[in-house]
Amino acid sequence: MRSILVINAGSSSLKFQVFAIVEGGLERRVRGQMDGVGGRPRLKASDGDGESLVDRAYDAAEVADLPAAIDAVQAFLRSLGGFTLAAIGHRVVHGGPDFTDAVLIDPAVLDKLSHYQDLAPLHQPNNLAPIRLAMEIAPDLPQVACFDTAFHRGHAAHTDCYAIPRKLYDEGVRRYGFHGLSYEYIAERLRAVAPDIAAGRVVVAHLGSGASMCALAGGRSIESTMGFTALDGLPMGTRPGQLDPGVVLYLLDQKGMSVGAVTDLLYRGSGLKGLSGLSNDMRDLVDSDDPRAAFAIDHFVHRAALSAGQLAAALGGLDAFVFTAGIGEHSPVIRARIAERLAWLGAELDPAANEAGELVISTAGSRVALMVVPTDEELMIARHTLALIGDPVA
Ligand code: ADP
Repeated sequence: MRSILVINAGSSSLKFQVFAIVEGGLERRVRGQMDGVGGRPRLKASDGDGESLVDRAYDAAEVADLPAAIDAVQAFLRSLGGFTLAAIGHRVVHGGPDFTDAVLIDPAVLDKLSHYQDLAPLHQPNNLAPIRLAMEIAPDLPQVACFDTAFHRGHAAHTDCYAIPRKLYDEGVRRYGFHGLSYEYIAERLRAVAPDIAAGRVVVAHLGSGASMCALAGGRSIESTMGFTALDGLPMGTRPGQLDPGVVLYLLDQKGMSVGAVTDLLYRGSGLKGLSGLSNDMRDLVDSDDPRAAFAIDHFVHRAALSAGQLAAALGGLDAFVFTAGIGEHSPVIRARIAERLAWLGAELDPAANEAGELVISTAGSRVALMVVPTDEELMIARHTLALIGDPVA
């Protein structure tokens, strides 16, 4: 069965999915991840129906780094048999200022992407490692890079700059925006399930362990809460979201913290975790009686409401507000709290539909449609990959 392998490589995890190329499109056959690379490696995978295919722990030395993780995942996929890879689609966090769409990878493209490592030093090197490895062991296998930034590249220049010397903009210090594959998928999905809304003014809230919002005008991204890095915008599991840069100067200068320590604080010690002192997981906070949990949730909801207002202003009004990703798809409590803060825009929640997690969770009379649309970034990557390799669907 000709298939597409989708890879999302992080610093200590390797997520992968296999899609079979079948008549009429793509079918998900395997979904898995290798976690704890270099620490307590564990490979878990399930089939398209969610039935477990493997759950196996490894010694730290066996899967010490990303290449070893790729080897182990490859061995597992081979053991399943029956798949012939037509291509690999990779999630690559940064496409820089140039890539406005997914791209077939060749040495020149890879070279260009390597230059963006400075723009995303924590993610880009991990994203590129499996590409290099596959180029070595299977040079004829087409590989496609799909970017978190590409969907936002149509933003007007005056919206994607900072008010700092122009020279820095030219060097690449811009408001790129991220989670683009998720927003692109939602925009496509809306065209299928709610074409009138898809043609209008929509804010999509991707609320996962990373969180951002995007303003869609007629399905095109015109604004996003994330900027130069994935630190900006909404508070997240462990990242602060919007922060006065003076705070960073204070930490460096007055507190004498090293760049590494500040980086760690901003990427791993802030957000819901830093504020509550309890957990980065919204489920824990919602279930907790601790007032610090309630405080962190109040902050999260407040910032989400402020961002929604900003993006509605960018759109000149609001026809729909869409919840997606872990929190957005699974937490009726947080959806209700945010929806309450959208009442001034004309949004009215239908509590029963919200509890049931229906597609539309607003009342019939609501001026703004409230919706829950599960995202699927991997399927988006597989679609881009299939489109670029031009494989005739059997
Ligand atoms: P990622 O951003 O890592 O891709 P997800 O989009 O799956 O991850 O979001 C994961 C987050 O979603 C978890 O950290 C958790 O905080 C949150 N989450 C998942 N289910 C629920 C739930 N039922 N209630 C509240 N939060 C949830």
